[in-house]
Amino acid sequence: VCPTGALTVKSEVEQAWAAIHDPGKTVVVQIAPAVRVALGEEFGLAAGSAVTGKIVAALKKMGVDKVFDTLFTADLTTIEESMEFLSRLENEGRLPLFTSCCPGWVKYCEQTHADMIDHLSSCRSPQQMFGSLIKKHYAKKIGKTPAEVVCISVMPCTAKKFEAKRPEFTTEGVYDVDIVLTTVEMAQMIKEFGIVFNELEPAGFDNPLGMGSGGALIFGASGGVMESVVRYIAGYTGGHEVGRIDFYPARGIQGLKEAEVAVNDRKLKVAVVNGINNAERLIQRLKTGEIMYHIVEVMACPGGCIGGGGQPDINNTSTRIQRLNSIYQLDAIEQVHKAQDNVYVNKIINEWLKGFDTRTAHHDLHTSYVHRRRISGKPMQITDLSGEDMV
Ligand code: SF4
Repeated sequence: VCPTGALTVKSEVEQAWAAIHDPGKTVVVQIAPAVRVALGEEFGLAAGSAVTGKIVAALKKMGVDKVFDTLFTADLTTIEESMEFLSRLENEGRLPLFTSCCPGWVKYCEQTHADMIDHLSSCRSPQQMFGSLIKKHYAKKIGKTPAEVVCISVMPCTAKKFEAKRPEFTTEGVYDVDIVLTTVEMAQMIKEFGIVFNELEPAGFDNPLGMGSGGALIFGASGGVMESVVRYIAGYTGGHEVGRIDFYPARGIQGLKEAEVAVNDRKLKVAVVNGINNAERLIQRLKTGEIMYHIVEVMACPGGCIGGGGQPDINNTSTRIQRLNSIYQLDAIEQVHKAQDNVYVNKIINEWLKGFDTRTAHHDLHTSYVHRRRISGKPMQITDLSGEDMV
């Protein structure tokens, strides 16, 4: 069950098998960062075990046509969101900028704080940027229509199922992301296919959407989007000589993290919040003028996506810390550290979207938000399930 209380899980395993067995469909899968440090738990491995290559190998054995990495579009999100933030900063736009990668948070903001909607970044989440690229561009490249390509996401998240069904995320009448599997549903399919997961030889992602930076990998933990944006901005304003940047104030599972970042002559106040309770408290303090930030990352789940509602059942603090440590260990050995150093992102954006900041890029990678009524019409009930996401 989603820790935000937003949704209960509706399994899409049957649809995924149907797509894989349909000879008329090309099946393309993307794997989110937090999945790779949790799925092994379903096969008796320790929490935080990194099993990226085994998941790719399992999908290929099942008959999936291409296995790509959500890290690719996480890098794209970092670049687009950073550019949006710098533009708002220079042009006295609406601040703080709220990140928009988490559909649980976006929906909560739309339903509960309609007056704050224009603080949300217009960037689609990495899942939806990926779906958009696949249906609008990749399908054409391989000579298929959007309906002939089935885009499956493997996510730590149940709210992503809702996000994929938003009517604005379609191309030529079909969803950009057709099927969203949680980490647990992915493990179920591996078991159903009879794969001995722990004995699999790791396989690599396919290209061109198979590469991501360390900055994209840490999107799986609370603070990761913020750290990736800081890495981008430091490189953008500091030039190529800027090396590794590790932004420790953004790390950890605490409900609220705050820091100041010096950019040229300005001091930027940033905040990272996880857990809807903590987001609500932060918004109330923003509204009273008690606090002020330039940019805020919000993730609905305790600890961020590593603690998502689609992750394996033992989802307590100790498990989340093990997954989080694993994410940062993987980042530490990743050769490509910042989003802007991902050469494939630069190549694809230039070839498919005619460059950054073009009309096509804006149309395909951004979105807008609306005030949503709650179906019940009653105030949303916030239940603190973890007891750990308190400020
Ligand atoms: Fe989904 Fe991650 Fe948001 Fe949780 S924090 S609702 S897993 S996107």
